[in-house]
Amino acid sequence: MRVFAIPMRTRFRGVTRREGMLVRGPAGWGEFSPFPEYGPKECARWLAAAREAAHDGWPAPLRSRIPVNVTVPAVDAETAHRITRVSGCRTAKVKVAEPGQSEADDLARVEAVRDALGPGGKVRVDANGAWDPDTAVRRLTLLGELEYAEQPCATLDELALVRRRVDTPIAADESIRRAEDPLRVRAAEAADIVVLKVQPLGGVRAALRVAEACGLPVVVSSAVETSVGLAAGAALAAALPELPYACGLGTLSLLEGDVTSDPLTVTDGAIDVRRPEVAEDALRRYEIDDAAWRRRAVQAQEELGGAPLVTDAGAVR
Ligand SMILES: [Mg+2]
Repeated sequence: MRVFAIPMRTRFRGVTRREGMLVRGPAGWGEFSPFPEYGPKECARWLAAAREAAHDGWPAPLRSRIPVNVTVPAVDAETAHRITRVSGCRTAKVKVAEPGQSEADDLARVEAVRDALGPGGKVRVDANGAWDPDTAVRRLTLLGELEYAEQPCATLDELALVRRRVDTPIAADESIRRAEDPLRVRAAEAADIVVLKVQPLGGVRAALRVAEACGLPVVVSSAVETSVGLAAGAALAAALPELPYACGLGTLSLLEGDVTSDPLTVTDGAIDVRRPEVAEDALRRYEIDDAAWRRRAVQAQEELGGAPLVTDAGAVR
């Protein structure tokens, strides 16, 4: 059991360092990296994902490469153009609806990204739930053809309302944080696509069951993990019967470093389906005291039940 803290290149969810715990079991390394505000109940699912990775491994892959999107933050048009061009990706996710920015800023950014991708490129936008329904309808109409719009509004009712009023497909992201959520999204006719993440759903197999039960196309996203966590996301994307969209797994560049010497970086707009080995020298650079994370894991373990992964004294096999 090892604990890491890796500086972020840009602030994300209010954090400047991505912290987490790595555990090794017979099947390999697993990552347990719930965000700081999550309590034991939520953390239990994240721990289940680490236990699956370390003890059980993942279902056989159906593909060996996962296309990924470049994420374009709410930057000016010129910067957005450059980020897209150098990424090598054919799909871009553009952040919109950032506080303090105008409709014209969002439009200029989306058009710059479209131009950088050229013909055949796909643009999706992510509003992180920031628009009210009327604003969402107006902005999406203004932005023109998009692959989809991720979480234009905060609630399911609002998503459903917007979905009935625009041609743009709607994807649910923040609306899905627990295994039951995708089923609610579908029942509310609130989205055409669901964004699934391995750790919050309790592992690759749990996420596959959610995908099957919900019956909507899936985009697999990371929780801004090291290559150990990203490998689980790649395993989920590789095991889905169909993968019609590029995934949000090209996030390693958000971190200043990694715990392996063979990271899951993006090449030619995709990442490999494989499990990088943790490298001792890479890990040691970011290692921190493990007491707080061990407590967190033990609390999550109590919620989760089953075979213990971590004890007060350290990891057990
Ligand atoms: Mg999102």
